[in-house]
Amino acid sequence: MPLRSTLHSQRSLLLTLVILLGSGFLATSLLSYFASRDAIRDSIVNTELPLTSDTVYSEIQKDLVRPVLISSMMARDTFVRDWVVAGEKDPQQMTRYLKEVMDHYGAYTSFFVSNQSLTYYQAKGVLKKIRPDEPRDVWYYRVRDMAEPYEINVDPDLANKDNLTFFINYKVFDYNDNFIGATGVGLTVDAVIKLIDRYQQRYQRSVYFVDTFGRLVLTGAEGGPQGAAIGQALRDLPNLKDLQKQMPKPQSGSYQYASLGDEHFLNVRYIPELNWYLFVDKREDGAMTDIRRSLYLNLSICLAVMLLVLYLLHRVVRRFQIRIETQAMVDSLTGLPNRRGFDRIALGAMDEMRRERKSLSAMLLDLDHFKRLNDTYGHLAGDEVLIGFSDDVRRCLRESDIICRWGGEEFIILLKDTNTHGARRVAEKIRLLAEQHTYVFGGAALQVTVSLGVTELHAGDTLQSLIARADQALYSAKQSGRNRVCTESVEPA
Ligand code: GH3
Ligand code: MG
Ligand code: MG
Repeated sequence: MPLRSTLHSQRSLLLTLVILLGSGFLATSLLSYFASRDAIRDSIVNTELPLTSDTVYSEIQKDLVRPVLISSMMARDTFVRDWVVAGEKDPQQMTRYLKEVMDHYGAYTSFFVSNQSLTYYQAKGVLKKIRPDEPRDVWYYRVRDMAEPYEINVDPDLANKDNLTFFINYKVFDYNDNFIGATGVGLTVDAVIKLIDRYQQRYQRSVYFVDTFGRLVLTGAEGGPQGAAIGQALRDLPNLKDLQKQMPKPQSGSYQYASLGDEHFLNVRYIPELNWYLFVDKREDGAMTDIRRSLYLNLSICLAVMLLVLYLLHRVVRRFQIRIETQAMVDSLTGLPNRRGFDRIALGAMDEMRRERKSLSAMLLDLDHFKRLNDTYGHLAGDEVLIGFSDDVRRCLRESDIICRWGGEEFIILLKDTNTHGARRVAEKIRLLAEQHTYVFGGAALQVTVSLGVTELHAGDTLQSLIARADQALYSAKQSGRNRVCTESVEPA
């Protein structure tokens, strides 16, 4: 096979292996990555987030729903209703009552606003009269007119240095269902925010509450999604566009959306006691970092193994290739270079001698009547003579000379730094040695003579023209009776 096509097939073998190994490794790594990713996503969507939501909900029930229950109890309290119906005679009774509630239940504040006298009572005493034109009292008129029995509202607390407070405002009715005021307790928002922060840190996900209009009503200290503040509507957050498309209005369920290049998983749950929605949001990135890291590790190990396999394979193939190439250029019987080997080295020798302005001679040798020897003593005897003869010839040459089995019982020799004269001398030596040597095979003494054609390299010669002239000289040697040396030179122009 020509060298170029050997190289080509070697390259395509390596390339095929790269593709096979690479795609195999890539497929297994990616499959296991996607399987782990799906498992993690599945566990986030179906287990982790609902579980967090449950936990937050139960804590919320404990921390926020309890105040709702206390407020509800206050609104149904017969003392409160009797006291109002009886004309709010002793404010201290109400104040004491509110202080009891506050102390006993650990509320931050407690209050009652009478619809009759428009007096705002709280644990420390009578706070003030409320007025419809006072912006801070708007809440009362809203509560008075609302259909629901209560609302949860975040407002500054006048009684407590205007701290943001989370109020549960319950409507109070007399025994004939006439609205007689509003009562309830308050928690500082600080406490609730701390509560949310605790959830967020404990569960590594963001937790916030949204009202039925999609406005943030409660977030951790650092705000809601992307730092949004309480009061902002989710639809106004540009990074939540993807989520908005899926959920224009808050609705319970599981969602998956993209924001700022990250995948998010979201669990939304309606909390009927608050009429709010609890959002528990987890960024995929945090959960995926580990498996992505193991994917990269897998891929690098695969790449290293692939490169090692390819390197070893390349070495083995290269070694075999060199061995095969060498074998292809050597004659197995005599151990001399064959014609293919000769082509490789002859051109180099010609160039070298031309460059160094030295002469080079070519010599073609052909054993005489070799067919007869074969016919008489057998082919194996002929082989033995060929081996012996080539050894003899080698002994007549220098290390730098090139000898090759040209084919059959013919040999070719290139003598470096040798002109026709010198070449003739060597040829004569070979002829004499062959003539005098007796080769022994199977008890028979075999003798052989050789005809030789000699010529010298001339300017303008190609390897072919040089050999053709040597062949011509050999032909002359055969024609003129064999066992002799003939020379062929270029006719002067
Ligand atoms: P001439 O003097 O004209 O060269 O006669 P010849 O018989 O030597 O020439 P011819 O070309 O007729 O025959 C060459 C013979 O060499 C025929 C072939 O069987 C034999 N031969 C070629 N290669 C080998 C070989 O590897 N081993 C043996 N034993 N014989 C070979
Ligand atoms: Mg021949
Ligand atoms: Mg012959």
